[in-house]
Amino acid sequence: AGQAPNRSVHLFDSGQDGAQRDNLRLLSDLRGAIDGRLLVFHAQPKFAVDGSLRGAELLVRWAHPENGFISPARFIPLAEKSRLIFDLTRFGFETAKRHVLEVRGFAPQSALRFSVNVSGSDVTDPRFPDMLREAFGDDPADLALLELEITETAIIEDLERLVPVLERVRETGVRIAIDDFGTGYSSLVYLKRIPADTLKIDQSFVRDVMSSERDAILVRRTIQIGKDLGMDIVAEGVETQEIADWLVANGCDRLQGYFFSRPLPPPQWRDLAMARLGG
Ligand code: C2E
Ligand code: CA
Ligand code: CA
Ligand code: CA
Repeated sequence: AGQAPNRSVHLFDSGQDGAQRDNLRLLSDLRGAIDGRLLVFHAQPKFAVDGSLRGAELLVRWAHPENGFISPARFIPLAEKSRLIFDLTRFGFETAKRHVLEVRGFAPQSALRFSVNVSGSDVTDPRFPDMLREAFGDDPADLALLELEITETAIIEDLERLVPVLERVRETGVRIAIDDFGTGYSSLVYLKRIPADTLKIDQSFVRDVMSSERDAILVRRTIQIGKDLGMDIVAEGVETQEIADWLVANGCDRLQGYFFSRPLPPPQWRDLAMARLGG
């Protein structure tokens, strides 16, 4: 009678150990991939309401040699727990800098802005300001073309420590975007304190504006509050013409989503930017 519980405990433990081993393996492979610069950042274009190209969000892609493509939704949370994320973010800044210089090569007056996703632990790391300067440089003309996307949840979780750092970064001309807005149980009090230039409405709201009057009301109000606070409003996850039209009619400033373009590998991004900017 003592056998069955033991066995189930044993099975449970080995399952956990297995998952933990997988994660450790994945992390060690990720370390190698970051150090070897084997990850690629795809660039998803953002457009103004008049259709002009305004910039791109850099989204990391990892083709694992044995396991194939691994979603950032799987490895970013692991990287965040292990602090590997800091080096990934550094790689993101280096990539953003390369993009800024590349675009300037064929369109010297371009104001295309590149967004890098950053985690809360990046920003609160005491090395963050130096790392940003080393990876991206300190030319004000370049810094004005960099935007950090940080999720509303990350900001709220560590508001007191993040706000002063974000303010310092912002003084250098870098822009701050609140990502996934509406998913983090924020209150107006928080919104008042976050030093941000851009508000990105989460795709879970954007997706349903045509089908749910409640979502439509929430998005309309969000746009209004953001604008009243002087922020640019970006909608992410725009998948249809109807949704794009609705967002434009309701005052969104910029649009991003599969309807316009998927995240593009660097060569395709370059082709699109050159075609749009007349390079
Ligand atoms: P996110 O920052 O909210 O990025 C938006 C996600 O939605 C991306 O998924 C993007 O490919 C996807 N997407 C874009 N347009 C559409 C659309 O029209 N419809 C739908 N259904 N999806 C769309 P992705 O690239 O898989 O990234 C997932 C998440 O992983 C990101 O969410 C971000 O939180 C994280 N992530 C990605 N790259 C990085 C990075 O370099 N650093 C950090 N810290 N996080 C990253
Ligand atoms: Ca983002
Ligand atoms: Ca987002
Ligand atoms: Ca998201």
